[in-house]
Amino acid sequence: MSPDLTSINEHAAIELVMELIAVPGGPGDEAAVAARIKAELIKNGFAARNIRHDKANRHTRCPSPTGNMIACLPGRGKLRNAARRLLSTHMDTVPLCVGAVPLRKSRNRIVPAGDTALGGDNRSGCASVLTAIRELHGSGCDHPPLTLLFTVQEEVGLSGAQHLDASLLRSPQLAVNVDGGDPADLVIGAIGGHQWQADIDGIAAHAGCHPENGASAASVFAIAHAALVDGGWHGKVEQGRNRGTANIGSLEGGDATNVVMDRLEVTGECRSHSKSFLNRMMRTYENAFTKAARQTKNASGQGASVEFKVTNTYPPFSMSKRHPAVGAVVDALAVTRRRPNFRVIDGGLDANCLTAIHGIPAVTIGAGDHNPHTVNEYLDVPEYLDACRVLLQFAAGPKG
Ligand SMILES: [Zn+2]
Repeated sequence: MSPDLTSINEHAAIELVMELIAVPGGPGDEAAVAARIKAELIKNGFAARNIRHDKANRHTRCPSPTGNMIACLPGRGKLRNAARRLLSTHMDTVPLCVGAVPLRKSRNRIVPAGDTALGGDNRSGCASVLTAIRELHGSGCDHPPLTLLFTVQEEVGLSGAQHLDASLLRSPQLAVNVDGGDPADLVIGAIGGHQWQADIDGIAAHAGCHPENGASAASVFAIAHAALVDGGWHGKVEQGRNRGTANIGSLEGGDATNVVMDRLEVTGECRSHSKSFLNRMMRTYENAFTKAARQTKNASGQGASVEFKVTNTYPPFSMSKRHPAVGAVVDALAVTRRRPNFRVIDGGLDANCLTAIHGIPAVTIGAGDHNPHTVNEYLDVPEYLDACRVLLQFAAGPKG
């Protein structure tokens, strides 16, 4: 008799997600949840020596002792030499989730008990991958070689996935990433973005006695920004057939009203689905600041200056619906009797880095989380359980 992979232990799956949500773990603070995940993997057939951390944390945004966790499982039986499959998901939550106490508010909904966000983003991803592994192990059925990737610091600009040591993944050919709401929403493309910072150095002077001796950093920003707005490069950006968005995020500088502002730090971001247009937007921003700094001089002809730097970047990606990874996820989704809804989204995901930096095209599905990063976050239990079923099918490999 072939093992039944269509039903799962729902009670255990729900207990596991509640337990993982309760483990605090903002970006850079993933050690506790990683330890809990590792213990679960060892209970379910993974050898401790095959569970490793990379050294991404030496390069990521937040100082941290914890790199991405990568766990490998050999294939079994007839499928032991089939194409390796990767299941990836991120371990961190946004800081607003730290201290969350999950509450089963109704049969279909888990919410935070207090004034925090829930952290279903992305503990539902971790719990659904672990549930799939637990069920697969319990079934004793054949499966292809598997790699699990639990990334760190996704919530701070996909930092863990960016700096992933992909050589530890053992060359997976089909990949699914778990992060989001409805498991029938298959994300096959996502926008890319650059975050940047402009450090403007003006020249200080007494604003009352000798303003002419100063070169105002505020003026540099104002001139640059006005030119960008006039040219249609701020907010929703449409230049010919190219599309993107751009935003000024913060301004920090100046000391007192009676001093010509000699220092202003500006941060912002640009996003686009086109890599070349994204680069063009960045050049436009840099040029606008450089030109404005040249224009801003004091009475003796000394000018302001600007240092423009990219502080974080993630490339856009898009996958063909005919890519084998998409086919494998669509096949797995059949267990829910739901049709795939293909989506290209305007936010970044670990899949941007897996696909566009590391060359591992990854389809992203949700695991029931809604309104992430807010106190209204909740987990849709039936969607979460469906994600567990889909991931079990994906991990079990090709049929027949
Ligand atoms: Zn997430």
